[in-house]
Amino acid sequence: MKDIIRIAVQKSGRLSDDSLSLIKECGIKFYNGTGKLKSTAINFPIEFLYLRDDDIPGYVADGVADLGIVGENELVEKDKKVEIIKKLGFSKCRLSLAIPKGEDYPGIAYFQGKNIATSYPRILGNYLKSNKVEASIHEISGSVEIAPSIGLAEGICDIVSSGSTLMMNGLKEVEEIFRSEAVLISNPDMEPGKKSIVEKLLFRMNAVQQGKGNKYILLNAPNDSLDRIISLIPGMRSPTVLPLAQEGWSSVHSVLSEDQFWENIVELRQAGAEGILVVPIEKMVL
Ligand code: ATP
Ligand code: MG
Repeated sequence: MKDIIRIAVQKSGRLSDDSLSLIKECGIKFYNGTGKLKSTAINFPIEFLYLRDDDIPGYVADGVADLGIVGENELVEKDKKVEIIKKLGFSKCRLSLAIPKGEDYPGIAYFQGKNIATSYPRILGNYLKSNKVEASIHEISGSVEIAPSIGLAEGICDIVSSGSTLMMNGLKEVEEIFRSEAVLISNPDMEPGKKSIVEKLLFRMNAVQQGKGNKYILLNAPNDSLDRIISLIPGMRSPTVLPLAQEGWSSVHSVLSEDQFWENIVELRQAGAEGILVVPIEKMVL
């Protein structure tokens, strides 16, 4: 039988869309009809399992799936034997401790002897231990933010992105204990045939990520300022310089990160650059 790899992705939630978009951007075609738990790609040897994110680390550790896309928070909490093979840069969030808005907060010692509600007992337990705080942890699986108002706990430890959910529930964030983003995980004992498919997938993901971080830039410049402009946008090997139909002018093409672009834009214009176009790059292989 031909080798095929299996990847576990979240069925529906905050990781799902970005996980599937990344795979599509790698040129992999598949149909994921709603309600389906499994599907197979048409043009790449990969099969998808659609699962709850909580179950992804376990399935990958057991080898039911070879790869998985999951938040680091869930991965560390589940503590399964898997390898992180790539950080994916989406679903960024933090795990924080929060208490009722009106309370004074003198520091982490505040939690000594208190009750804290969370869905992340392991991460929280480790954090409290390393800060030498003894508190009792109440594990609940959802709606953690309401715990203080119903008298279940004095504080909570939960995922925060903007902080608006905390505010709506009369809470304030007091300690950030963990930062998370989506990661690609793999089973540590994969057969060589599967490993080489994973390598191909990683190559494509890297090309997509490189492309996203960079822009293609085109501009017109008077020939006497070309040296200055080339030094501002050095590109991959060096910029392309083409003559314009108008005497004394050139078109300069290069690649640079979006940050570099904004940093250099004033100097580029001072150097005489005009008609500057910035174009997205779909894939980039160095
Ligand atoms: P499931 O039904 O699959 O168990 P869930 O309710 O546990 O889903 P989601 O809320 O979909 O999980 O979040 C999935 C992951 O996305 C989280 O574990 C975290 O890594 C990340 N995440 C959660 N909230 C946010 C947020 N507000 N912004 C960005 N990323 C987030
Ligand atoms: Mg979950």
